Amino acid sequence: MKRFGVILALFLLPVSKANGVDIPEFCAHKTTFEMRTTNVIKRCNEDEISLGSGPITASLTAPKALNETLENRFRTAQASAAKEGVNLQITSGYRSIERQRFLFDQAVQKYGSYKTAAKWVAPPEISNHPLGLAIDVNYPNDPKAAKWLEVNGYKFGLCRVFKNEWWHFEGNIAPGWKCPKLLKDARALLQS
Ligand SMILES: [Zn+2]
Repeated sequence: MKRFGVILALFLLPVSKANGVDIPEFCAHKTTFEMRTTNVIKRCNEDEISLGSGPITASLTAPKALNETLENRFRTAQASAAKEGVNLQITSGYRSIERQRFLFDQAVQKYGSYKTAAKWVAPPEISNHPLGLAIDVNYPNDPKAAKWLEVNGYKFGLCRVFKNEWWHFEGNIAPGWKCPKLLKDARALLQS
């Protein structure tokens, strides 16, 4: 359901706002990380990084690295957290589909079934790590710092996704939007 909703929004956006002037694009200054809103026609300035114009969606080709907009959002959040003495670090970002499959197969061995394993490690076909659209932050030792991102991440378009993973964040909203309700665990994605 989530992917469908995102794809639907992608199609509706240009239609409902035919001239791109009305579609906001979010930018942050490369050194001060001060945020600014422009639009998708004007785009960000050369001394800024783009935080995108909506929820971050998968590219049509298989990526080999973390989504750049997601990385920019994290860097902006990281700079803001640092001002409050909070140290945020990405401990896992892009993972190849083979790597995700390996981790999932290990979990199946450990937990005995696909369904139970999926509670703890997302199967490769539903994980957003191979799509470059997910980051694990301060895993496994610093849930306190990650909590800062859970509370403040929406300002930068970053949301915690699962109730059982305090470390996992995605760019599933535009900066400033409200984060969706937490899913119980990755198995919620299997049902959609
Ligand atoms: Zn994760």
